[in-house]
Amino acid sequence: MRVLLVEDDDELAGRLSHGLKKEGFVIERAQNGPDGLAMGLDCEFDVIILDLGLPEMDGLEILKRWRSQKIDTPVLVLTARGTWTEKVEGLNAGADDYISKPTHVPEVAARLRALVRRKFGTASPVFQHGSLCLDSTAGEVTLSGERVELTAIEIQLLSYFMHRIGRVVSQYELAESIYGSQDVRESNTVEVYISRLRRKLGRDVIKTIRGLGYKMDR
Ligand code: CA
Repeated sequence: MRVLLVEDDDELAGRLSHGLKKEGFVIERAQNGPDGLAMGLDCEFDVIILDLGLPEMDGLEILKRWRSQKIDTPVLVLTARGTWTEKVEGLNAGADDYISKPTHVPEVAARLRALVRRKFGTASPVFQHGSLCLDSTAGEVTLSGERVELTAIEIQLLSYFMHRIGRVVSQYELAESIYGSQDVRESNTVEVYISRLRRKLGRDVIKTIRGLGYKMDR
């Protein structure tokens, strides 16, 4: 799951990035308002964490601009403790949820997952596709009721496909979802993971679309 973190405070950004990476998220950070605005407009993130107090352009302004340009990525706003006006303003400007500082990584991770689930139109953390079932909270996969052991990256890839059933995804996009955009040179490792998923879940679970990428059929 790709997360844009717009936060100027190095200590907080470092702590959140570190903790969320361990939880399986891919984090890209913007350190000021204009960078945050641009990254949110250009890139395809699954969810955005947005601090409101930012240098050069504040978070509310950024959020209003994204929404006026039809960027509908779910946004979790970070507010200073006890400032209820900020929460109301944030929600009015188009935020999907807010969290007060000081933040705790497990809570942030849970809110992010909930936002992404809501975006993809299911309130349950369990994704069912034919006989394949992914419980994203427990990190468990079953095939026809039998537990299948997958590594963290394999689960991440499978989850990426299950969120995009019927859509062709490129090798580049998959690599980005695992490693973040800094490490696209790793994209040939994607093939290795795909073949492992096929070995564990069946050859037809993910189809190769020649020249374009891969697809999980409806
Ligand atoms: Ca700040």
